[in-house]
Amino acid sequence: MKTRVWVVDNIVDKQQVYPQIREAVEWLRAGEVIAFPTETVYGLGADAANTAAVEKIFAAKGRPSDNPLIVHVASMAQAEAVAASIPPMAKTLMERFWPGPLTLVLPKRAKAVSERVTAGLPTVAVRMPDHPLALALIEASGLALAAPSANRSGRPSPTTAAHVLADLDGRIAGVIDGGPTGVGVESTVLDCSGGVPTILRPGGVTKEALIEAIGRVEEAAAVDDEAAPKAPGMKYTHYAPKAPLWIVAGPPAFLQRLVDESRAEGKTVGVLTTEENRDQYAADVVLPCGTRQALETVASRLYDTLRRFDETNVDLIYSEAFPEEGIGAAIMNRLRKAAGGRAISEQRK
Ligand code: AMP
Ligand code: MG
Repeated sequence: MKTRVWVVDNIVDKQQVYPQIREAVEWLRAGEVIAFPTETVYGLGADAANTAAVEKIFAAKGRPSDNPLIVHVASMAQAEAVAASIPPMAKTLMERFWPGPLTLVLPKRAKAVSERVTAGLPTVAVRMPDHPLALALIEASGLALAAPSANRSGRPSPTTAAHVLADLDGRIAGVIDGGPTGVGVESTVLDCSGGVPTILRPGGVTKEALIEAIGRVEEAAAVDDEAAPKAPGMKYTHYAPKAPLWIVAGPPAFLQRLVDESRAEGKTVGVLTTEENRDQYAADVVLPCGTRQALETVASRLYDTLRRFDETNVDLIYSEAFPEEGIGAAIMNRLRKAAGGRAISEQRK
């Protein structure tokens, strides 16, 4: 399959992008899969009600089919059409954070979306992306779009159309190139299907902001379990660069010692750092990823930085660790998955 690329330049105003995406809209309506930018990462979208179309997402990504997909909507009416009910608290969150990087898990409405989208669960995950192109695509097609990140399963999520093509060229009908995404990490997934709302995945909307809005929020134990697997390599890794990644808790001098040890063994070593610390390291490849002063910039550049290591010949990568507050929680969650649990702390060494 030849993958079509539509470069859309004026994305300030939704109305102006409609003519530019007409073909993509037709193909979505015909059951094809199309990659498109959102404010978090590029998504790989298909008509959520069309099982054959949704199956093409799993095939293109090589994604395990027991992993449910997020349904993207452009209006409250569309959200109401896929959810059986919207609890008052979820409504408060939608008013406050939509459009935006918050996915709500709600009781699902029977037959509204394909069973392949919800992986047989009684719930459906819904979000309204804060990106004029994504909203225009959903509106113009009139479809709720099931869309995971537009990468091959296990790889870092795409934050540019070039990342999408690196993974999926020839495997999908098309990609809408709207430039780099902003937030850079995926949406926060919040279970609002009953009981105290629970964060299933930290993301673009912080736990602190959720607590401020609705008072009480819990974190799923599974998030912690996944974050700290008992032994490296036991768990399937996500977001992973090709070279093994280690998260290093400790000052730059400690990380540099690890670099020196590995280089003494003949290894080619990469370091993932920040603008503040980039001059502190002597390694084969040193890539700064945003600034500690503004962790949003780290989130925004994280996946691109992980992918850039793949263009080098490093045998392993040592990454600095980040504070777990605010967006730092999402950064560390993704880094831990990219590292598959490999972590070294100065205290424990
Ligand atoms: P991705 O599509 O890669 O952004 O990942 C989607 C995330 O949403 C995964 O962590 C899914 O497990 C989660 N998710 C989607 N639908 C549901 C649902 N109905 N219940 C719980 N989690 C869900
Ligand atoms: Mg993904």
